Amino acid sequence: PALVKDGSLRTLSTSARRSTVMQAWVIDKYGNNSVLRYTKNASFPIIHYPNEVIVKVNAAGLNPLDINMRGGYGAATLAMKRDPLSINKAGSEFPLILGRDVSGVIMECGLDVSYFKPGDEVSHKPKSLSHVDAASLPYVAATAWSALVNTGGLNKDNSAKKRVLILGGSGGVGTFAIQMLKSWGAHVTVTCSQNAEHLVRGLGADDVVDYTAGPVERKLHTLEKFDVILDNIGGETEHWALSLLKPWCGAKYVTLVTPFLRNTDQLGLADGMMQTAVTVATKALKHITKGVHYRWGFFAPSGPALDDVSEMVDAGKIRAVVEEQFSFAQVPKAFEKVEKGHARGKIVVTVT
Ligand code: NDP
Repeated sequence: PALVKDGSLRTLSTSARRSTVMQAWVIDKYGNNSVLRYTKNASFPIIHYPNEVIVKVNAAGLNPLDINMRGGYGAATLAMKRDPLSINKAGSEFPLILGRDVSGVIMECGLDVSYFKPGDEVSHKPKSLSHVDAASLPYVAATAWSALVNTGGLNKDNSAKKRVLILGGSGGVGTFAIQMLKSWGAHVTVTCSQNAEHLVRGLGADDVVDYTAGPVERKLHTLEKFDVILDNIGGETEHWALSLLKPWCGAKYVTLVTPFLRNTDQLGLADGMMQTAVTVATKALKHITKGVHYRWGFFAPSGPALDDVSEMVDAGKIRAVVEEQFSFAQVPKAFEKVEKGHARGKIVVTVT
């Protein structure tokens, strides 16, 4: 599929598409929420490559990564990717528009784009969802899919009766992953705060363990062992989670919390990737001797995966879990809310 250019918290000015400016929230430097600045004069995007499209954004979902990137996370790595020969001056990315999850309408297509046409609701939006609900899905769906299917080895045909543990089930990735796994017939255990139990059970979770009521690993150890663990929390969890897997039968622990971008930001692309490879190989080796697999999971854009997700949504197997909507004027409030870190599903900004 074509790349969705402009996947961000931005909208067109009210005039037609030939306008050269649009309204947007931008940052001029990295920092805390005070760096967010509203402007009516952001440059209107142009198509640079024949596989790009321009999307008029109706609603945008927020993710923890957007908060991290506001603070500069990934900046050095992205600068190296954008400008490998360091031709541009430092800071040439500003004013920068943040954001990655959108639902909207295709305005313009590059010459090689055949899968989309102007007027399409992207990407391709589930027909049964509003733009607000649709904007809450792509990033978490593509992440859960990549982690559980590509890395964890699960799919619709082999998940029945598999025991899956999701550490951190109440946020964006967790609420999506529970529903995807349940629709494939897996048995799903979730850790979350006590006040999220009702939400995750409503999405289909079979067993729920409250991590705020004493050592969570002790309670998890009383349960039957797992085939796959999806870790949305990281840190401390790595010390005990792998012992919850069934040994010597291909069971996998997949964590989404990795030092990959931090390494490449600090050490440069080559050394950072080398450091990353050494870290992950060391950990994987340590655990393989105990008969379980240690893996890192990442967001991976995939049109076919999103099309499958759209079908599951339109078939009523997955629903959007939107905790709160904010208007375009309230973007800083939306960032604040995500930054607090107690998500119950997703936060979405309405743009039009
Ligand atoms: P959210 O902020 O939406 O959700 C995090 C959830 O975890 C909240 O509901 C929070 O609620 C809960 N939580 C916090 N601490 C614990 C704990 N110890 N045990 C159980 N639950 C806990 O995050 P996302 O779901 O969007 O993302 C999850 C993680 O994955 C983030 O760290 C994110 O950066 C990372 N990620 C990595 C990607 C990659 O490519 N590697 C891609 C996408 C996400 P409460 O505090 O109230 O319990």
